[in-house]
Amino acid sequence: MPILHALPAFADNYIWALHDGQDAWVVDPGDPAPVETWLAQEGLKLSGILLTHHHADHTGGVAALREAHGARVVGPAYEVLPEPVQRLSAGDRIELLGRTFDVLEVPGHTAGHIAYYCADWEGTPLLFCGDTLFSGGCGRLFEGTPAQMLDSLDRLSALPGATRVCCTHEYTLSNLRFALAVEPANTALQAYQRHCRALREHGQPTLPSTVERERAINPFLRVREPQVAQAIHQQEPGASDPVSLFAALRRWKDGFR
Ligand code: ZN
Ligand code: FE
Repeated sequence: MPILHALPAFADNYIWALHDGQDAWVVDPGDPAPVETWLAQEGLKLSGILLTHHHADHTGGVAALREAHGARVVGPAYEVLPEPVQRLSAGDRIELLGRTFDVLEVPGHTAGHIAYYCADWEGTPLLFCGDTLFSGGCGRLFEGTPAQMLDSLDRLSALPGATRVCCTHEYTLSNLRFALAVEPANTALQAYQRHCRALREHGQPTLPSTVERERAINPFLRVREPQVAQAIHQQEPGASDPVSLFAALRRWKDGFR
């Protein structure tokens, strides 16, 4: 029975960790320390590391963990990463802890960003999406275009609704403040903000989210909804098609305080 766990790192990162009671895998270990503490506590052996993109807050722990445990490292085909890395691209599959993960290419935050999707993790689909999709938001466009990011998010949004979405940052409450500025009358969003506030007051992660929930509350998955398009239009009257609406929404969020 593999177990999924979120290890907090830095100010607001999560290192997602999987284990079967013996072997463990971690996703985007920016810092080796929380991983080492967890492995020792649980008495686990680190078998492998999944990487979604090259940023240091996702890869900074790779060298130390590989040296200490001889762990196998897999990551995106087209990014600069701490070598050696087994390179994966769209359509590739990886087996870990007896489960199969499909690799999705989701460029936008970085040019070669990938995500890992398991169709059946204890009966529920599971997604590691790095900094592409956050609960209530999405990653900044450092290397990709709005068209690429919208396409990436559209494909994640088309995954089964029950898919558990494992994002790499606890940005949910600040994302929801912006989401409510876009859609003040969205009752699902209002209820979700109350839910997440209560979780954070008790020191709990707001993640994983689900694809179904994100479709209902995340403005970056909702640019085709008339009320979202209308709100963006008030910020940038020129925006009309989905890509220009998405680009305008991202700019609005970048300047939102
Ligand atoms: Zn990043
Ligand atoms: Fe990050």
